[in-house]
Amino acid sequence: MTEHNHGPQQITDAQLRELRGKYFTVVHKRTPECGHHLDMINEPTFRNCEYCWFSFFTTHGELVNVTHEAFQEHGAAFVDKLRGRKYRTMFTRFMSTMNRLREESEKLKEQETNDQERTNEGD
Ligand SMILES: [Zn+2]
Repeated sequence: MTEHNHGPQQITDAQLRELRGKYFTVVHKRTPECGHHLDMINEPTFRNCEYCWFSFFTTHGELVNVTHEAFQEHGAAFVDKLRGRKYRTMFTRFMSTMNRLREESEKLKEQETNDQERTNEGD
């Protein structure tokens, strides 16, 4: 049995840099509406910026679910104690915005279905 040294090819420095950029660079996104840097992990730096909070909540689905449950079961004061009043205020705003968006999209869907039915009847 002859031993061939077919190990993986060494990647070049340039390739390594490219890969590092691809996998390990923390992408500092910005919230488009306000231009603030978006922290993907922590609560927004700009405590009073609703856009930042909105982006924060949309990227933290699990946290939103947990907060929603805590809110339903124990009320606003409990969420205040847990995460702070600012968080709770922004959370309720986020939820009502989401509800409104959902209602609007449902209304749109309903309208589309109606339109389709009308088209089908025309056949
Ligand atoms: Zn902002």
